[in-house]
Amino acid sequence: MGVPLASIETQTIADANNPQLLVVVTDNNGNLGVGETWWGTYQPTSQPGSPVKPIASMIDDVLAPACIGWDGDDISGLGAHLHRLTYQYGPEGVTSAAIAGIDLALWDLQAQIRGVPAAQLLGPRAHDRLPAYASLDWLGNAAAACVDAKRAVDAGFIGVKLHEAEAEIVLAVRKAIGPDIALMVDLSARLDDAEAVTLAESVQRAGVTWLEEPIFPYRAHGRLARLRATIQQRLAAGENEFSVAGIRRLLESGAVDVLQPDIVKFGGLSAANELGRMALEHQVWLCPHNFSLGPSLGANIHWSMTAGAAAWIEVPFLSAGQRFAGSWDMPTLVDGYIHYPTTAGLGWD
Ligand SMILES: [Mg+2]
Repeated sequence: MGVPLASIETQTIADANNPQLLVVVTDNNGNLGVGETWWGTYQPTSQPGSPVKPIASMIDDVLAPACIGWDGDDISGLGAHLHRLTYQYGPEGVTSAAIAGIDLALWDLQAQIRGVPAAQLLGPRAHDRLPAYASLDWLGNAAAACVDAKRAVDAGFIGVKLHEAEAEIVLAVRKAIGPDIALMVDLSARLDDAEAVTLAESVQRAGVTWLEEPIFPYRAHGRLARLRATIQQRLAAGENEFSVAGIRRLLESGAVDVLQPDIVKFGGLSAANELGRMALEHQVWLCPHNFSLGPSLGANIHWSMTAGAAAWIEVPFLSAGQRFAGSWDMPTLVDGYIHYPTTAGLGWD
């Protein structure tokens, strides 16, 4: 029997470009856990912090009152209770993201109480270290992309991911960073099927490790699978699935070589082991999606270290002069790798 939960509170980091939504959980002994969830979708008209409001409201107004007094050790029982409580809102999207934020906070709390890394509670160690790639911002021109890619390599990364949809930019960056750095390309769902095939052919000589979400992926598993069979590169997707069932359908349709579930969208660490097993069964790389420097990055590091299929860890890498508003430091890279964390909870070294 664990200690009853005393409070669940959201905290918004109201950054204009990279807002974050934290979830702070305390128990009756004053122990504290910090989670994080999806920050929503930025619109040009958004005020700083406003994209997080729907998810924050789901936590503050619906979920938090139902958590008070619950045994803090019973993460799976509380998760089932919260899913049951919210099913009439629909189980995916705002609901699953809100539950994920609480789930991450509870894993942090329980690991903090025991003084161990969350990975140790999650399962046996599968990796001592994993390579990290720098996930660059959408920059839109070759010169800026080359500058940031070189900055990332100088910072110790052995992989760089572009968010660009033009072949000339990809080829220019490959030339700038040389042949030995892994180069991933995220199309952020901006192409149609024919454009995706053309782009894949145009960047063939750049030696791209994977092409990510070339087309709008939502309920498009069959189209993704056909595209995967057509192009030479690995196809990556999964960040826009909001449930384990959705990720299973993606895998079973043969749509991906690289599975990229977002832990703060599909429900949190409590579902992570099941996804890890699914990735192994389907013989795909598991490379969780993340664009935050906070507990959701921590959750991905701890999860990946226990997942045999894990291949790369995504670390957001902003342009010079920009930074995340929170107080977290970048993970330490040794030869381009992040090591199994020694920090208690969801922290990293
Ligand atoms: Mg992506």
